[in-house]
Amino acid sequence: MSEKNGKIFVISSPSGGGKTSIVRRILSEFPEIVFSVSATTRPKRPDEIDGVHYFFLTEEQFLEKIKNDEFIEWERFYDYYYGTLKTFVIDNIQDGKSVLLEIDVKGALSVKKIFPDSILIFIDVPSFEELVNRLKKRKTESEADLQKRIDRAKMELSYKDKFDYIFVNKDLEEVTSQIKSLIKDILKKEK
Ligand code: 5GP
Repeated sequence: MSEKNGKIFVISSPSGGGKTSIVRRILSEFPEIVFSVSATTRPKRPDEIDGVHYFFLTEEQFLEKIKNDEFIEWERFYDYYYGTLKTFVIDNIQDGKSVLLEIDVKGALSVKKIFPDSILIFIDVPSFEELVNRLKKRKTESEADLQKRIDRAKMELSYKDKFDYIFVNKDLEEVTSQIKSLIKDILKKEK
């Protein structure tokens, strides 16, 4: 075990807010930060790898983990379950590594309750219309799923004031560099 625990960074944004691209860039800049691989019952997308992007579980397996208290938090939406695994996060931070969680707003607030020192970052969109356009362009979902994600985005935006930091994603490079500077400062203070 390391002398000092690692930090927990949580990034949330509405679907289509650009968080996946931002997270990818942050991880490539900070090799000392580990991505928290969540468990989910959602079907795997073609470009996703089991154990890297998510642990893809059956509903039965997921419910078993809930029963065994294996999650820090979990949520059910769009008919699927998503959850942050206790062992994954706790083992890493106790090892002195920082962990980055890319989870929804409610999950983020649950993490903050359990780990008050965690840093919650919300990535906002310049406008709601732009968000809808981004979601439509993505074409990874059916029409029905798309509408669910739009409704959910409205809900997620209503939680943003509860976050420690809010960044507006007008320009991917710019917002990424702002978030990187924040993380750099926080990690430097910890040393
Ligand atoms: P997607 O299906 O697009 O990968 O993710 C849908 C939503 O689930 C996103 O907002 C994503 O951040 C969130 N999510 C992913 N993993 C978790 C998790 O472990 N817990 C919670 N609460 N949300 C998650």
